[in-house]
Amino acid sequence: MASLRNFFPFIQNNPGVVYFDSAATSLKPQSAIDALLHYHTHESVNIHRGVYKLSQHATDTVESVRQKVTRFVTDEKDGTSVFVRGTTEGLNLLAHSLTSPKSHLKDFFAAYQSDKKPAILISESEHHANIVPWQIAAERMGYALLYVPIDSEGNFNYPVDFLSRIEASYSLRIVSLSLQSNVTGIVHDLAPFREAAKRIGAVFIVDAAQGILHAPQTLRELQPDFTVFSGHKLFSATGIGAVVGSKRVLDSLDVWQGGGGMINLVEKDHSTYLEAPTRFEAGTQAVGEIFSLGKAIEFADEYAREIHAHDREITAYADAAFEKAGIRFFGKGAKTRSAIYSFEIPGVHPHDIGTLLDEQMICIRAGHHCCQILMRALGVSATARASMSVYNTQDEVDKLLEGIQHVKKIFRK
Ligand code: PLP
Repeated sequence: MASLRNFFPFIQNNPGVVYFDSAATSLKPQSAIDALLHYHTHESVNIHRGVYKLSQHATDTVESVRQKVTRFVTDEKDGTSVFVRGTTEGLNLLAHSLTSPKSHLKDFFAAYQSDKKPAILISESEHHANIVPWQIAAERMGYALLYVPIDSEGNFNYPVDFLSRIEASYSLRIVSLSLQSNVTGIVHDLAPFREAAKRIGAVFIVDAAQGILHAPQTLRELQPDFTVFSGHKLFSATGIGAVVGSKRVLDSLDVWQGGGGMINLVEKDHSTYLEAPTRFEAGTQAVGEIFSLGKAIEFADEYAREIHAHDREITAYADAAFEKAGIRFFGKGAKTRSAIYSFEIPGVHPHDIGTLLDEQMICIRAGHHCCQILMRALGVSATARASMSVYNTQDEVDKLLEGIQHVKKIFRK
């Protein structure tokens, strides 16, 4: 298998550094960096509103990236992608528009026809980006916010009648779940929730911030109504991501941010709006970042087999290495897990672990990882997390485990 490591200039520019924080943001291949630079050095013009050729060319590039993003995520013929800043912004958009009384969702989702109290289902494993926007929307609109419970390793753990009990009491309108946990690396089994959502007529949303890299095939099989992801965790520049979904459904949704670029006509007392996806793209877009996202998607697409094989190999290797060293990590018992290790050294604070590993030039993350509810279920306030991607090597895993042994020695653990 060809190594993809050489595509990432960070590696050459930071000799000796071991980067294990890819769940926070991935390194970028040269092509995704060049695309950002190319936009600013060669094109640098605004899109959509220009009558001159350069503007039209940049517009064409942006629209071709939109198609690439959509095709990467879904087979849906009617699919399109709304560019947003990232997963967080995408979920805020959906939380607003899917609960707005101005959206016309009854035609698409039967749950919106029911008179029972409306509910949104998320899980205890979610990143705050897939909790807080729903809390805000639920509070504003009088929806119930329900959680799939998890066990003390981070696995979904719910009784067999969990969904039927929800159905009996609520009109379950929205199911929004992450495909993969950014803390445990568990790839959640979302199939039962997808089936339930389809049967009930609820909107099924997948937060694919981590899953789009580590489980893209599962994502395609799930065919969510909406997929949300961040480009910067999938090899592109920061500040760009997408909400991917059906254009017809997006057209039926209430707009959220108003401004230039999304309107059809502006009168003094009201405005009319363009069709999706542009109706959700108010203001100047992150054009250079979209160029970068295009190259990142090309990279992920071209090397999909290598990325997948590497993911499996490094996970098997690291699982065994952690096991051999007697270092406990969360996520035990999961059917599918990959590349993300939240581990502990009893009696040593994760921040101390992170700082001491940094002295050995190993970059990991320590904290609650924007998952305070999950932390409570795991019974900790924070974890040390090492997250891996296609540029990491088995030697680096060995270095991490040696580094952890060094930390243990210092603390005499
Ligand atoms: N969801 C998950 C599972 C994540 O891991 C993250 C970021 O770590 C997010 C959402 C939020 O992504 P962003 O900060 O790029 O909006």
